[in-house]
Amino acid sequence: MKKIIIANWKANLSLAQARSLAKKLAASRPAKNLTAVLCPDFVALGEMANRLKKSAFLLGAQDCSAFLPGAHTGEVAAAVLKQGGVKYVIIGHSERRANGEGAKVISQKIQQVVAEKLIPIICVGETAGERRLKKTKIVLAKQLQEVLAPLPSKHVKSPLIFAYEPVWAIGSGLTPEPLETAEICAMMKNLAAKAGFSRVTVIYGGSVTDQNAGEYLQYPAIAGLLVGGASLDARRFRRLLNF
Ligand code: PEP
Repeated sequence: MKKIIIANWKANLSLAQARSLAKKLAASRPAKNLTAVLCPDFVALGEMANRLKKSAFLLGAQDCSAFLPGAHTGEVAAAVLKQGGVKYVIIGHSERRANGEGAKVISQKIQQVVAEKLIPIICVGETAGERRLKKTKIVLAKQLQEVLAPLPSKHVKSPLIFAYEPVWAIGSGLTPEPLETAEICAMMKNLAAKAGFSRVTVIYGGSVTDQNAGEYLQYPAIAGLLVGGASLDARRFRRLLNF
């Protein structure tokens, strides 16, 4: 099965830097068995859509509105992202959850995304404290349930991607064991299937590099990777896409 590698540029790049990185990447070809997605910030999205049109890269957004288009100052609706060439939308990243984004809003955003037939990348993961207390599986089951349960049943066949991103692994250089990660991804897929969601895939994110990517991707249960820091350097990211 084709694996997916998703670059989350966060708010790291100026427009000039985003342009330059996209230019370097657009000229390269990810390995045949990979789908590659770039998620720039909202301002860069329009320009990236043009730049990447003829490339092997697809476009993702880092967030979207929980509402339909309308009087919602500062929001960007999923419908508009779709018009701009976006195919994937990251939802509920831990950096947003840390700023107060809760399950209800995350679930509403997922609903907007799937209603537009875009694919949400729904981030979940335990904190270091929860891991120490051996609560990882309980925390993940709760995070999964609380965003899936409110989705209308017409969406059960929508393709959904869950990104297992332990909060302690993001940007820290620390990573969970690949085998343990694969078991967790398999558990999440099973939980989603039990809840009736038949097209769920689970990827891993947190301090992935061109050095360790292959260790995760060797497991069938890990359908791909969400990459932050290592996606900001064209050479490193190209190596990651051709591991
Ligand atoms: C992320 O924040 O989604 C992420 C995976 O970051 P990093 O790769 O830098 O740990």
